[in-house]
Amino acid sequence: MTNSPVSEHAPTIGDTRLLINGERVDGAEGATFDIYNPSTGTVLAQVAEGRKEDINRAVKAAKNAFESGPWHDMKPAERAKLIWRLGDLLLENAAELGGLETLDNGKPFLQARDGDVSAAAGLFHYMSGWATKIEGSTIPISFPGQFHTYTRREALGVVGLIVPWNFPLTIAAWKCAPALAAGNTIVLKPSEVTPLTALKLGELALEAGIPPGVLNVVPGFGTDAGVALTEHPDVAKVSFTGSTLTGRAIVHGATSNLKKVTLELGGKAPNIIMPDANIEAAIQGSSDGVFYNQGEACAAASRLFAHRSVYDEVVAGISAAADAIKVGDGFDPESFIGPLVSKEHHAKVAGYLDLGREQGTVAAGGTYTTDGGYFVKPTVLTDMGDDSQVVREEIFGPVVNVLPFDDEDEVVRRANDTPYGLTAGVWTENAGTAHRMAERLQAGTVWVNCYGVFDAAMPYGGFKQSGWGREMGGVVLDDYTETKTVCIKIGD
Ligand code: NAD
Repeated sequence: MTNSPVSEHAPTIGDTRLLINGERVDGAEGATFDIYNPSTGTVLAQVAEGRKEDINRAVKAAKNAFESGPWHDMKPAERAKLIWRLGDLLLENAAELGGLETLDNGKPFLQARDGDVSAAAGLFHYMSGWATKIEGSTIPISFPGQFHTYTRREALGVVGLIVPWNFPLTIAAWKCAPALAAGNTIVLKPSEVTPLTALKLGELALEAGIPPGVLNVVPGFGTDAGVALTEHPDVAKVSFTGSTLTGRAIVHGATSNLKKVTLELGGKAPNIIMPDANIEAAIQGSSDGVFYNQGEACAAASRLFAHRSVYDEVVAGISAAADAIKVGDGFDPESFIGPLVSKEHHAKVAGYLDLGREQGTVAAGGTYTTDGGYFVKPTVLTDMGDDSQVVREEIFGPVVNVLPFDDEDEVVRRANDTPYGLTAGVWTENAGTAHRMAERLQAGTVWVNCYGVFDAAMPYGGFKQSGWGREMGGVVLDDYTETKTVCIKIGD
């Protein structure tokens, strides 16, 4: 595990002030907070700290932009052009955005530039097409000839978008792109751990021609700026991605004006290797499915169920895959895993590794750095019961438990025995098994013979305590619009 930051790709950080009404401004109270380079544990920059008064300023700007001005009067086709242009600008600035993500979050630069940034651009490109296609319908009600009834789908107003640190730009795009396509205006609050790419996104939106006040960006802490945004009476909706614990707090905060809430929360995904699977592909896919992005993914395939007939082969295979992964500075092109995002998160994951070592068997990895950068070795744990804390709780790090099973009914029951329901994986060569398992697993996305495939057109979100509503796909627009029913008397 190395922690020497080496790169010609590390960009300069630029302006770290808030972006409100198209202008870069200090926080009203003049406060700043430090952000850290997770590869070294050293301070990377000071960022203006948005607090309640700044959220008020940003909401006011967003409200004005929604109610009057060029955004309010803009034709959907014009809106579509600007949103598409923003996608283009993300691609044109991919190296800088990817570099900022690596500095701030730690993730490998190539993954950030070619994965996160291009996924974010894909969202704006895809959603731009929807701007001209948000349609209502005509409804034949029970009084023929007397009424003409139809629906309109209208923007909500100001939406508050609260995002986490694991895919800072991509998740901001999941939310901003449909919000803009539907004609809303935005106050975006990035994670206090990784605010840089959200600020750059706001700058690029202005450069694309999206009017000032439409996309405001206010970095700050959850307990202050996040709470203020959630409780604000002029915010019509909050879309949140983060922990289940915070999700509950958001729901409570939103009761102030009963604003709409959508939530993308945690996961503890089952990933099931059936006896007839292509084992080689299953092992590689399962390794990528849990270790990608340092395992800091709500979709991480962290409970790997292997049929007993292939269990030993799977344990050996995924352990070899884990041992082969290069962990190091995100700017080293050989690194597949960078550091974890923060000192606090590193300590949390290290605690789970210690617990795993005490209660189970470490088949690979199990170690972590104790000074400098926040590195953890990809880890494979075995011999642990389904009820152990490590198997039940979301670790959000590069840690997988391999669990043997004997038959389909048993594995479906165990896979579903979790409060979460975000994603699941199945590996099988039998089409019937694939469809049957896809139907039986309680998860918002089921991947078969693949894992972690995302696309702007694919709805994504959770069953059970993994969330409310969906991101991406056409369906997300339901969560950024109100349906209005219009009923007109046309005869007696
Ligand atoms: P977090 O819940 O601590 O914070 C997420 C965001 O919420 C941050 O911007 C934070 O400032 C803000 N926040 C915190 N407390 C708040 C409050 N009381 N009111 C309003 N806002 C508040 O999560 P995190 O540590 O940034 O991210 C890691 C967690 O996110 C993991 O547990 C993971 O499961 C989850 N996650 C889920 C998904 C998904 O799509 N389901 C994606 C990424 C991360």
